[in-house]
Amino acid sequence: MLLIKNGRVLDPGSRTDAALDVLLDGERIAQLGANLSAPGAEILDAKGLIVSPGFIDLHCHLREPGQEMSETIESGTRAAARGGFTAVCCMPNTQPVNDSASVTRGIVERAAAVASVRVWPIGAASAGSKGEALAEIAAMKDAGIVAVSDDGKPIATARLMRQVMDYCRALDLPVIDHCEDASLFAGGVMREGPTSMRLGLKGIPAQSETICAGRDVEVAGLTGARLHVAHMSTLGSLEYVRFAKKSGLRVTCEVTPHHFTLTDEDVRYDTNYKMNPPLASRTDREALIQGLADGAVDSIATDHAPHHPGSKDVEFDRAPFGITGFETALALGLSGLVHPGKISLMRLVELFTTGPAGVLGKERKIAAGEPADVTIFSTEHAWTFRAADSPSKSRNTPFDGRAFRGAPMATIVGGRIVYRREAAARA
Ligand SMILES: [Zn+2]
Ligand SMILES: [Zn+2]
Repeated sequence: MLLIKNGRVLDPGSRTDAALDVLLDGERIAQLGANLSAPGAEILDAKGLIVSPGFIDLHCHLREPGQEMSETIESGTRAAARGGFTAVCCMPNTQPVNDSASVTRGIVERAAAVASVRVWPIGAASAGSKGEALAEIAAMKDAGIVAVSDDGKPIATARLMRQVMDYCRALDLPVIDHCEDASLFAGGVMREGPTSMRLGLKGIPAQSETICAGRDVEVAGLTGARLHVAHMSTLGSLEYVRFAKKSGLRVTCEVTPHHFTLTDEDVRYDTNYKMNPPLASRTDREALIQGLADGAVDSIATDHAPHHPGSKDVEFDRAPFGITGFETALALGLSGLVHPGKISLMRLVELFTTGPAGVLGKERKIAAGEPADVTIFSTEHAWTFRAADSPSKSRNTPFDGRAFRGAPMATIVGGRIVYRREAAARA
């Protein structure tokens, strides 16, 4: 038994914001109440800290099987635990692609053996994510996938998207959409605009994303399927999501910490600023923050995309897209959104917990009988992120060396403490 004492419980599902203790009994939450005592229980003192339902990351790349130089299920989930995440959804663009029940089972079994946090695999929409024939979606669902996506690339045609959605609607699985129009993307490496002109880098217009988001909102209307827009970066895409929600469609979306923190004006000749979708304009960023505040955006997701140092240590044009994200996500949310007063602390917790859970059709709350997945964090703890200290196998982040206020302090999965920031660091 583990008793979390003296914390401030923030539970968006029940709108609870109160000084309460939480008693965990093995895999489940046993009790929530004031001044609990449990003889013999291990005590975790959360004085001055926030006690939240366990964070969920809807979007990451764990690189296993096949790219273990960059990350493994073991190393990636250790980094996730340090970021406060108790469950992560891993994208299927591994080698081989997770497009069959056997690959899904391999990931689930590996995670059961070595992962620090829960791993919920996402299956490919098309075989090999090649955009031709459908993947073995029903068999993968039986093996444990929670959603379907060809992330890394878009689903090339509206016709294939319709087939994927028809199938996923029958199975009640969300389709996670990497929105990109390949013909407009056309070899670009950053957002098209004054900065790409100045740097002499090939630009990608915002419309590459927006056109695809609009198309797929229309296909969601046609099919009635659940559509989730991944790593949304443009005002235009958000407008389509708002329209879809107003129309009663089952459309949700996520925003990454880097897209609400940085803009294309921050890009320099450093491949840690190269990601897809690229960093967007100031206008886009302000629109995303508005959506995070008013509820149009459902979730913050990291798109943790590790690449081993050798692969990013090349010219900007040749580098792969993507940055790591688990360990900086909460701190970026606190420093970029909560501390400046753009969103409430409760809303931030929602974006990491009930928001992503809802996208997957799950619940997330602190109540007796619920899974004992809990994230404990500080809104004030001062620290500096050092990529070199990360358990991730990769270092590709533009936030190396950044000073933060607020950090995950303990991560609990199934009643077990899987990460705890050392007491010395708390002083
Ligand atoms: Zn993507
Ligand atoms: Zn991704």
